[in-house]
Amino acid sequence: MGKKIKYSKYVPEQEVPEVRKPPQCNDCPVVACWPHDPADVMKGPDFCALKNYPDLIEKAKEIYLKEGIDREIQLQGARLEGISSSTPPGGTEINMTLTRIEEAIMFCKMMGWKKVGFAHCIGMIGEAMELSAIFKARGFETYQICCKVGAIEKTEIGIARLKEVIAALEDGEKTTFQVAPCITWDIDYRSWELFPAGQKWFAVGETLAHIKYLEEQGMVRRETQENKILFSLA
Ligand code: SF4
Repeated sequence: MGKKIKYSKYVPEQEVPEVRKPPQCNDCPVVACWPHDPADVMKGPDFCALKNYPDLIEKAKEIYLKEGIDREIQLQGARLEGISSSTPPGGTEINMTLTRIEEAIMFCKMMGWKKVGFAHCIGMIGEAMELSAIFKARGFETYQICCKVGAIEKTEIGIARLKEVIAALEDGEKTTFQVAPCITWDIDYRSWELFPAGQKWFAVGETLAHIKYLEEQGMVRRETQENKILFSLA
């Protein structure tokens, strides 16, 4: 039996399920968590977070009840929502009185923030500059950081090598020693056979790190045959 949880007067006591279904609010046909009648609050689908994660919801509520930045953000966000949107009596629509940018500016002012930073995709650098100018015009000090910060090539964080490991396993199971020669190494030898023993040792270690990463992601599985560990695509 899972632990019983009661975190709200409107939500009946829930048992923490042994097997949870991941949340998929995007597929919810009822949005029962925003009900007209509190009695409907548990009418969501099987994957509803109210039915699958009552313990986590309880923890989140506890965080919001403690003094600190999470509570302050929640309180000011709720105040702002009351100012910037309204639903007519008996209606379901939400009427906005502020744009999202106006809301963001007002929220920062309500929080007492003077400095605002924007982290953005390189493709949105123009929009981020405009946003920054709007915030500056409202008296904020602004900072921007683009996703390309550091100019690190994707190959430097192993992304190309992960692809090479997958390609090496596409034609069947292999040991780490068999995968390593299929990877591109930044070293001046024409073939794997010519690599010095020490370089081979480093290369095999790095190959194993990539395989283990793919294993943790569920993309590669291992099995032991005659004292050999073989890897294959999952
Ligand atoms: S009722 Fe449950 S599944 Fe539907 S939107 Fe709300 S939390 Fe998501």
